[in-house]
Amino acid sequence: MISVKNLTKKYGNITALDNVSFSVEKGEVVGFLGPNGAGKSTAMNIITGYLSSTSGNVKIDGFDILEEPTDAKKRIGYLPEVPPLYPDMTVDEYLDFIYELKAAKQKKKAHFNEICELTKITAVRGRLIKNLSKGYRQRVGIAQALVGNPPVLILDEPTVGLDPKQIIEMRTLIKKLGENHTVILSSHILSEVQAVCGRIIVLNNGRLVADNKAQELGQSLNGGNSIVLRALGDDKRIQALLNSVKSVKHFSKSESFSDGAQEYLVNLSSSENAREEIFFAFASKKVPIIEMKTAEYSLEDIFMSLVNKDK
Ligand code: ADP
Ligand code: MG
Repeated sequence: MISVKNLTKKYGNITALDNVSFSVEKGEVVGFLGPNGAGKSTAMNIITGYLSSTSGNVKIDGFDILEEPTDAKKRIGYLPEVPPLYPDMTVDEYLDFIYELKAAKQKKKAHFNEICELTKITAVRGRLIKNLSKGYRQRVGIAQALVGNPPVLILDEPTVGLDPKQIIEMRTLIKKLGENHTVILSSHILSEVQAVCGRIIVLNNGRLVADNKAQELGQSLNGGNSIVLRALGDDKRIQALLNSVKSVKHFSKSESFSDGAQEYLVNLSSSENAREEIFFAFASKKVPIIEMKTAEYSLEDIFMSLVNKDK
C-alpha cells in the first residue's frame, strides 16, 4: 500500500532523512518511533506529498506521490504535527471546507455523521474550533483526515499535548481506525507505539535503525532465549542448582523479595527441554519455583540498545 524507497532529505547541510526504505502492506498499523529530530515528521511530509525529497521515491497504492499526486493524495488522510484548523470556523463548516478541498464524492450528510460518530465529535459540531479543548481539536484533526474515506492514514504525533484520559481515548480511536485503514503514526513515546502498532520502525538521526514486530524487537535483543525465574529459598542453594542444569548458559540475580523469594535472569542454550530440566532439578531438591516466564524487554531497553548500537 505504501512503498518508500531510498528516501533522502537534506536541509542545507542537515541530513534529516538518510536513505530510508520500507513498505507497508494494506491493513498494517505501523509506528514511527524515534526521539525528537529523528526525521519522523520529515518522512511523513514526504510520504503525503507536502515536501519533496532530495532523492528517492514514494508510492501510494502504486501511484508515485510526485508524478501522480492527484491519484496518490486521494488515498491519504493526513494529520500533520500541527493540525491545519481554522479557529473561526465551526466543526461542520470546517469539515465542509475540507470536503470541497478534497473534492470528496461521498454523500455528505451521511459521511459527516459517520466520521463525527467515529471520532466522537458529534456533540461539538456546531461549536467554533477556537473554543474546543486540545483533545477535541485533535479529534477534529483526525475527522478532517477521514473526509473522503482515504484508505491510508498518516498521523503525526496524534497524542501530543493530550491528558492521560484523552490519550487512552485517542489510542482506542486509532485501533478502531486500524480495522479499516492502513495507518502510520509517529510518536517519541515508546509505550504508545507498543499499545497501538503491530509493527515498529525506529528512526534515529534520519536513519532507519530497526523495522520489526514489537515482540521481535525484544527477542532480537537477547536471542529470544532468556527467562525470568523466581524461586523460594536460599540464594546460594538456588545458584548451585542453576549451575547444575546443563541448558543454563549463564544467569544473574535480579532481586530478593521479603517473602524469601529470589529472582534471576537466566540465559538458556537453545535446548528445547531447558525449562523442564530446570523444573525437575529444582523439584528434586524441593526448591519451589514460583514463577518462570520469558524475559521481556521494554521498548525503552530496546530503543536504548538500538540507538547505542547506531552510535
Ligand atoms: P521529528 O519529527 O522526528 O522530531 P523532524 O523530521 O521534524 O524530526 O526533523 C528532522 C531533522 O531535520 C531535525 O534535525 C530538524 O532540526 C531538521 N529540520 C526539520 N525541518 C527543517 C527545516 N524546515 N529546515 C531545516 N531543518 C529542518
Ligand atoms: Mg515531528
